[in-house]
Amino acid sequence: MGSGPRHPSPILGTTRFTAIFGDPVEHSLSPTMHNAAYAALRMDRRYVAFHVTPKALTSALRGIQAMGVLGINLTVPHKEAALRVMDQVRTEGILLGAINCVINRNGKLIGDNTDARGLERDLRRLAIRTKGRTVLIVGAGGGAASAALAVKRLGASRAIIANRTRSRAGALARRCARVSRAGTVFEGAGLECLRDSRLLATTACVINATPMGLTTGSFVPLNYGATPSDCFFYDLLYARRPTPFLQGAIRARRKCADGAGMLVEQGELAFKLFNGVAAPRGVMRRALMDALGRK
Ligand code: NAP
Repeated sequence: MGSGPRHPSPILGTTRFTAIFGDPVEHSLSPTMHNAAYAALRMDRRYVAFHVTPKALTSALRGIQAMGVLGINLTVPHKEAALRVMDQVRTEGILLGAINCVINRNGKLIGDNTDARGLERDLRRLAIRTKGRTVLIVGAGGGAASAALAVKRLGASRAIIANRTRSRAGALARRCARVSRAGTVFEGAGLECLRDSRLLATTACVINATPMGLTTGSFVPLNYGATPSDCFFYDLLYARRPTPFLQGAIRARRKCADGAGMLVEQGELAFKLFNGVAAPRGVMRRALMDALGRK
């Protein structure tokens, strides 16, 4: 697995740190992306991964204040629990009820979330046309909430949130509807709607925001062939090979992408929040694509 360009200077007494907390965290490619940007900018900084359990989260976050760590990314399962440790939470974190970034501003912990903005930027980059159309979001957790906010901002007229636990889909749809007084109409549904040909025939984009495919090895039955030929399939998961959700789209000759692009975009936004400067264009993307063995 590639690790990006080597940093031109050694770790010294002056070196400052940023990091990711997760449980598990060993698989994370965020260190690869952020360290590539530090190397390209010749910044005396490094990004490291810490395996932090839910029990240790509060003391780990207090530790970054004590040690002057500049910023932290949070991954599963910390995005919601970390909220209560923050001194301040920015609007995006409040809207999503979860944070994926903690900025240490002179000892004050500020929570933010770059997932929805990251996904929105990737959907724009891919030129996926959702304006005035229906989008189907599978899942009702934090990733699905980010997808709902992203497609609202892209002007979708209707977003169906389909989830295994139907009540959670309904709850997320109601939360989104409160934020979206005008514009997108949000509806909750069960996973059986993925076989509803009439609904699928009007769907412009299907977004998977569940770990199905990684944890289960397969995706629930979905009638890919009933979607319009320009329907786009987007998986928040990313892997070296197409995920089971995307394999169905490829077989049905539909366009698709995995969440590697979202990871890059949310990472670039986080880099700017932590360091006050933007990562040089394309550096984080190249580092991630190298690590995934892609061109
Ligand atoms: P989460 O809050 O734990 O939500 C998981 C969702 O998946 C829930 O709606 C859950 O349904 C559903 N689910 C889990 N296992 C299932 C199964 N076997 N069958 C059907 N549904 C199942 O997770 P999250 O934070 O939203 O993350 C979702 C996925 O997005 C993860 O794989 C994560 O890695 C990915 N993600 C990627 C990026 C990126 O940058 N590319 C960013 C954020 C998240 P129930 O409600 O019924 O339990």
